Amino acid sequence: MSSKLVPITVAHGDGIGPEIMAATLQIINAGGARIAPETIEIGEKVFLRGISAGIEPSAWESLRRTKVFLKAPITTPQGGGFKSLNVTTRKSLGLYANVRPCVSYYPYVDTKHPVMDVVIVRENEEDLYAGIEHRQTDEVTQCLKLISRPGSEKIVRYAFEYARRNSRKKVTCFSKDNIMKITDGLFHKIFDEIGAEYTDLEKEHWIVDIGAAKLADSPEVFDVIVMENLYGDILSDVAAQIAGSVGLAGSANIGSSCAMFEAIHGSAPRRAGQNLANPSGLLHGAILMLVHIGQPDVAELVHNAWLKTIEDGIHTYDIFQEGVSKQKVGTKEFADAVSARMGQKPEKLKTVSYSKAPSQTMTNVLREYPPAKKELIGVDVFIHWRDRDPVALGKKIETFNGNGLELLLISNRGQKVYPGGFEETFCTDHWRLRFKSIHHDDPIKHEQVIDLLDRLLKGGYDFIKIENLYTFDGVKGFVSAQGE
Ligand code: NAD
Repeated sequence: MSSKLVPITVAHGDGIGPEIMAATLQIINAGGARIAPETIEIGEKVFLRGISAGIEPSAWESLRRTKVFLKAPITTPQGGGFKSLNVTTRKSLGLYANVRPCVSYYPYVDTKHPVMDVVIVRENEEDLYAGIEHRQTDEVTQCLKLISRPGSEKIVRYAFEYARRNSRKKVTCFSKDNIMKITDGLFHKIFDEIGAEYTDLEKEHWIVDIGAAKLADSPEVFDVIVMENLYGDILSDVAAQIAGSVGLAGSANIGSSCAMFEAIHGSAPRRAGQNLANPSGLLHGAILMLVHIGQPDVAELVHNAWLKTIEDGIHTYDIFQEGVSKQKVGTKEFADAVSARMGQKPEKLKTVSYSKAPSQTMTNVLREYPPAKKELIGVDVFIHWRDRDPVALGKKIETFNGNGLELLLISNRGQKVYPGGFEETFCTDHWRLRFKSIHHDDPIKHEQVIDLLDRLLKGGYDFIKIENLYTFDGVKGFVSAQGE
């Protein structure tokens, strides 16, 4: 093992942040962490100085140099205009993978799921979190869900590599590809393709709704679960909560060059400054960091000392149970108790071993693939039109057929309403007009689309946006309307 000190950037955060960071640093130093921390200021004070991102430009210099960030929770001030520091950090530093181990410590920490040891690997950069939202009409708003091939490949490969390097047995994918056939369909397809390279691991796919229900009911059947951003955001909190306490879980945000480690809980301002808070969530983040920077020996010492402390019944208020816990302690005393147990192992809880785990950094090489033959075969034109009568609209829009394009259908919120719609379908003021080539699926030219838009505009229709209909190597790159 190298004895060189690894520079890391540390932020002490707000609320209980400074107390739990002091406890965490004390414990990992007692375990012999070979680190050289540099401190940056983030959070409430920075927000209140008028910096909407909550981080000073100078702090980025440290982060981009050390590439390792141990972050205590921060308080986001109430009121508008403040950006999520987590989202900013993840996106700015390309932290594509959020890794959250959720483990139960029964009977020492109360839980309905005594046998739970699940790792949620959540995609961090895309999906509905791209932040591309629009109000398009009086009645309708939209948020774009972007799922990319490289984004999916990176997270799926990370999940499989994580499983292999941490001696896990199975990787499960949750998606909703029965409904979102193109976006979630891509995620699932990439899971199957990359999974085929990992013959040593079990693979399975669940539709996210029933998968979530199964996770909440029988988490012991899962091992590593990989998910898109939104599903992962929700289900990683569910998983942490059902394991026993959100106060115990840590998480890693991993990129190809930088990484950030933190507790999953917030700054708990009501508990601040009272030596009450449980530092375990941040400590678990720090343990993930130690593995990441190539100090699995220290991670193992620290983690086992923590397990022994929990097993000895030395508990902070949030996990204290009469009859199970032996001693209720504050943040500092808990840190002293863990530090004093360095070198000890738990007797009842499972001992952890990181000695074989290589650094979690990996070169995530994207697969090469040839560009598809892409052909334009139609266009969806979305218009803002306030009358709720699809038949009246359809008859008017058909008069704009021409120059090789004709109206195939009109849909409202995805449901076909013309021709042959149902009177019962409720319509908003947001209509999709699907035009295709008069020669069936023959390719059309962009100029024909521009000409169509020009005719619609001159006819008094407000087109909100268009989506071109392409085929890729002859396969449709769009879905049919419901009822088409
Ligand atoms: P919270 O996680 O701070 O607290 C939720 C509950 O859990 C509270 O009852 C709290 O006392 C308890 N709790 C949390 N961590 C604990 C610990 N370590 N030990 C003992 N008890 C603990 O969530 P909140 O109250 O919704 O948010 C408070 C602030 O934290 C908000 O400003 C929010 O924006 C921020 N926040 C920050 C992060 C982050 O920095 N990563 C994450 C979530 C929330």
